[in-house]
Amino acid sequence: ATFGNLTDRLADTFKNLRGKGKLSEADVDGTVREIRRALLEADVALEVVKQFTGRVRERALGHEVSAALNPAQQVVQIVNDELVTILGGEARRIQFAKNPPTVIMLAGLQGAGKTTLAGKLSKWLAADGHTPLLVAADLQRPNAVTQLQVVAEQAGVAVFAPEPGNGKGDPVKVSKQAMKFAKDKQHDVVIIDTAGRLGVDAELMKQAANIRKAVDPDEVLFVIDAMIGQDAVTTARAFQEGVDFTGVVLSKLDGDARGGAALSVASITGRPIMFASTGEGLDDFEPFHPDRMASRILDLGDILTLIETAQKTFDEEESRKVAEKFATDTFTLDDFLQQMQQLKNMGSIKGMLGMLPGAKGMREQLDNFDESEITRTEAIIQSMTKQERTTPKLLNGSRRVRIARGSGTTVTEVNALVNRFEQAAKMMKTVAKGGVPQIPGMGPI
Ligand code: GDP
Repeated sequence: ATFGNLTDRLADTFKNLRGKGKLSEADVDGTVREIRRALLEADVALEVVKQFTGRVRERALGHEVSAALNPAQQVVQIVNDELVTILGGEARRIQFAKNPPTVIMLAGLQGAGKTTLAGKLSKWLAADGHTPLLVAADLQRPNAVTQLQVVAEQAGVAVFAPEPGNGKGDPVKVSKQAMKFAKDKQHDVVIIDTAGRLGVDAELMKQAANIRKAVDPDEVLFVIDAMIGQDAVTTARAFQEGVDFTGVVLSKLDGDARGGAALSVASITGRPIMFASTGEGLDDFEPFHPDRMASRILDLGDILTLIETAQKTFDEEESRKVAEKFATDTFTLDDFLQQMQQLKNMGSIKGMLGMLPGAKGMREQLDNFDESEITRTEAIIQSMTKQERTTPKLLNGSRRVRIARGSGTTVTEVNALVNRFEQAAKMMKTVAKGGVPQIPGMGPI
């Protein structure tokens, strides 16, 4: 899969940092060298690699001390942050025009996936209540017009195709006519499919620039095949100079691309990656999120979320205490309640427990842990006496009936909570064995 190799290489790099109490300059340099090699092998452009590794090195040597993270985790987090940065930082959405129609022009090499994208984008927009019009302004590539008609039909959207294409017709004129047509028929988005060539050429650029001039699009999306490798930089630069664009679409991310194009284009051009295409079907398409892509590359999604949650939620002292309680089997329903109240603001307790190393076997039970039940759970625990909370074994049938009544829940719910608590405590005890505090200094990544 795309990035597969990069992911493996980075994982190996991080593995070498495991168990280090403190990183020396030599450790950091070694790590940076490995990251550099991994990125170059993934076809990331040299200038991007240099920038990236420079920043990682600087930050790793700097004093970003976080009590909650060990050095290896800190490096992972720095690499993650910097990946998000080179992928464009914040996700950006389509800017819709104040006065419809919003005009979106697609540009890119032949075979990049523009026509397919036109279908995907229009289907996605239509599902969101828009009334897109596809415009067949690729009059060069054999069958491009028919192909656009086919995808329009599949997507259930309108198409404007007055010329047969296959080398005939004027794409600038078609684009202008399309604007009038869209206004008349009240289409609120116009998507213009333009011609590409197999390689960058001057005539193609001029034509695309002329279409751009004629219709003044709100967005020009540069579609680039993720498999293109090192050529990504030259191609992207040529399109930026020749037509310029407001956003990038990565296509064929489902393939075996090494991922360099994806990692280079946003930072080389300063334009955000807005969408990702991940297959030939019209639904194989999604808005692009730099942060999600970075976690995917690092294959550490859960761990990173845990790192963040841990950082925000716990101070070290407290986590030590909790771990101690787990290890010695003195974790009570009171602690459970307290943890839950802390986590409530952080989102999912289910997610939190699910991310703990060693918790895999618990996934199924955890899946039954519905977040919306937290409030009810609170009510149940609060209806218990102090003694019951520290010694759940006391909870016999009649006590459970009383607690259910007191908390406005049912005995079944009380039973379920007690079971869950017992399972969680058991799991945590296993996790905490060996005296290593597992939250949040989770030990080895
Ligand atoms: P255009 O010349 O830029 O309009 O490119 P097309 O839209 O015709 O796409 C070229 C080829 O790539 C077609 O066979 C598409 O089915 C295929 N294609 C487009 N996008 C994707 C994608 O995201 N994944 C895969 N696997 N194939 C794609």
